[in-house]
Amino acid sequence: MTTLPTISDLPTMQQQAFAWRAEGKRVGFIPTMGALHRGHLSLIEQSVADGNDIHVVSIYVNPTQFGPREDLAAYPRTLETDAALAKDAGANHLFLPSDATMYPDDFQTEVLVRDISKPLCGVSRPHHFPGVALVLTKLFNLVLPHRAYFGVKDFQQCLVVEQLVRDLNLPVEVVRCPTVREDDGLALSSRNSYLTPKERPVASRLRETLLEGRRGLLEHPTANVRDTLSGLRPKLEDVGMRIDYLELRREDTLETLNEFSQPAVLAGAVFLGEARLIDNILLTPGEDPASPPREV
Ligand code: AMP
Repeated sequence: MTTLPTISDLPTMQQQAFAWRAEGKRVGFIPTMGALHRGHLSLIEQSVADGNDIHVVSIYVNPTQFGPREDLAAYPRTLETDAALAKDAGANHLFLPSDATMYPDDFQTEVLVRDISKPLCGVSRPHHFPGVALVLTKLFNLVLPHRAYFGVKDFQQCLVVEQLVRDLNLPVEVVRCPTVREDDGLALSSRNSYLTPKERPVASRLRETLLEGRRGLLEHPTANVRDTLSGLRPKLEDVGMRIDYLELRREDTLETLNEFSQPAVLAGAVFLGEARLIDNILLTPGEDPASPPREV
């Protein structure tokens, strides 16, 4: 029993969306995979703060964005709590599509946002962004939102969605929201539940390392970026993290930066036990290293 009006049927969702549009209601949309935490709730709160009339949260663990050896089966599913949390944060509709209706047996279509999907997470997770682009195209067509809310924790995902919306002229405004963190700096993530009690305090090392990298790059902007990044890697490896990537890239295109000469994202992904953690910091040459990092 959920505590919010809930739609699972796809045609019903789309008809409801058309009805909202006909009534002149502005629809905010927060797509999630559930196991909601304060990060997700902050996106719902932003939709409320933006003055949308309707706040739709979808919970759907989308199989097409998981690779064959990834954690689709293990992904945490906490629907009852999610519904209560979403409602408290201001959501007024839940959308819970099923695999059978989203991807019937005769499903054939792919959605590929080419270049921006390739680096960083795209290297070790080649299925991921094509799956994300596909499911979001479908969800946008079903919910017909005016605005859709995404966390900058998944910075590459923000860029992929923005490119998708531009390229396909989708009538939705993408709103970036800041990363919500634990007190020690660890970015909230549904996958943090994979961390053991021993691993959990170690996990904040990713954020600390990115902050240290930011300081180094801002204080020594002419230093060789590759050297700076190499110098950071032991900080992660020494606490048992296996690095997937640790890179400085252009903030707009994600092209590699050999010198820190323009707005950039310092992005990292590491494996710690069963968990894969990602985080990033945005930084611009000339920024005060003592100031807190820019959030969006
Ligand atoms: P997910 O359920 O992991 O697919 O995430 C759904 C949305 O919540 C995505 O837009 C994420 O970027 C966003 N999100 C996840 N973690 C956080 C966080 N710690 N702070 C802000 N937004 C987040």
